[in-house]
Amino acid sequence: MVSELPDTSRDSNPNPLSSPDVAVIGAGPIGLAIAWRCAARGLRVVVHDPDPGSGAAYAAAGMLAPVAEAYFGEHELTGLLTDSAARWPAFAAELAAAAGTDVGYRSEGTLMVGLTADDLAVARRLWAYQQGLGLPVIPLRPSELRDREPALSPRLRGGAYAGTDHQVDPRRLMSALRIATERAGGVLVPTPVQRLTEVTAGTTVVAAGCGSAALTGLPVRPVKGQVLRLRAPEAPGFQHVIRGFADGEQVYLVPRPDGEVVVGATSEERTDTMVTSGAVLRLLRAATDLVPEVAEYELVEALAGLRPGSPDNAPILGPLPGRPAVLAATGHHRHGIVLTPVTADLIADLIVTGTPDPLLAPFAPERLGPLAVEAELPAPVRGFPVTRSTPQEKSWN
Ligand SMILES: Cc1cc2nc3c(=O)[nH]c(=O)nc-3n(C[C@H](O)[C@H](O)[C@H](O)COP(=O)(O)OP(=O)(O)OC[C@H]3O[C@@H](n4cnc5c(N)ncnc54)[C@H](O)[C@@H]3O)c2cc1C
Repeated sequence: MVSELPDTSRDSNPNPLSSPDVAVIGAGPIGLAIAWRCAARGLRVVVHDPDPGSGAAYAAAGMLAPVAEAYFGEHELTGLLTDSAARWPAFAAELAAAAGTDVGYRSEGTLMVGLTADDLAVARRLWAYQQGLGLPVIPLRPSELRDREPALSPRLRGGAYAGTDHQVDPRRLMSALRIATERAGGVLVPTPVQRLTEVTAGTTVVAAGCGSAALTGLPVRPVKGQVLRLRAPEAPGFQHVIRGFADGEQVYLVPRPDGEVVVGATSEERTDTMVTSGAVLRLLRAATDLVPEVAEYELVEALAGLRPGSPDNAPILGPLPGRPAVLAATGHHRHGIVLTPVTADLIADLIVTGTPDPLLAPFAPERLGPLAVEAELPAPVRGFPVTRSTPQEKSWN
């Protein structure tokens, strides 16, 4: 780890490729944000990725949802989500200034809704849990929901408002992070890393999403998410993120000012990226149940991404056991966009100071048990190595 910023050596050897302080493997939001933060602090940074921005983030909706994503038994993760969401306004502004391009940060908040009485009963149990944690969830009657968003279906039985759950556009985010990293002096190398021994740097950061397992032995597995992009003729007829239960299906709709609406997403224990007609049917049925007018929108894209899942749904952050110069920043699962600012800050601080922030402790790789030795690691498959394949999961998110 780098405990002091190099200065004289940099002047005599300005090429980061020859002796980087930091090598980041993976140019998704996590790897690029770490690279940007490190480069901005004067470190020589190299980022390896054959196809930057092509991972899970390309499919992501961009919800920054510490409240709606606060689930039973995940209170440490909820704390990190809340911390990172609070960093987002300043992060977005700083990044926009550094890159000269906007990242689509919007703060209208999120409406959480239930279509049927059964849907509302399920949703209310979750809202009660979230309120019990002190999170800001304001229950709303159907008429109050429709006062806020007239586009919502009159069939909705009730809902709640999560005013602190915002959104950003992940594709704009990726573009801005890449520009900011390069402007700060970071260098992108468009080749994959097959083994950690290929990389020579003061500190190596593994931020390769689903590719992290084959490099480290960490139990990161792909969790498939199918998602749709619709386009309204002008701006969508609603401004809030809408998330809800519709006849037992979970669905979200994320509107953007340019007319795009992201509808998602499945959550499947699968390793392929095939779009299935059944998933499209279920997503559109649930979405139009909640916001009928989206049936008139153009369907412009259907794709699947592979979330980098961890065994406890929380990210894996910090040095690999017995390898202090190799840091994991992976396993962000459904939360890599919202967790981008806190991950980048904590990992960059660790690299610069050598001292881990106490916030990192619950997310250390050690919590997951011993890692496979290098000879036992799974072989990379098309840049996204897989650790196992299990039957399709029924739940959605
Ligand atoms: C459908 C869907 C919806 C989502 N919605 C949200 C949301 O609303 N909010 C939210 O917070 N999160 C969301 N997510 C999750 C989020 O996208 C991920 O958590 C996030 O992208 C993880 O970022 P990452 O940088 O770790 O990985 P990725 O975005 O997957 O990027 C990994 C990068 O590593 C590269 N790579 C892989 N292997 C190697 C190698 N060997 N060498 C070099 N480079 C390599 C890849 O090319 C890729 O560019 C969603 C995900 C999906 C699929």
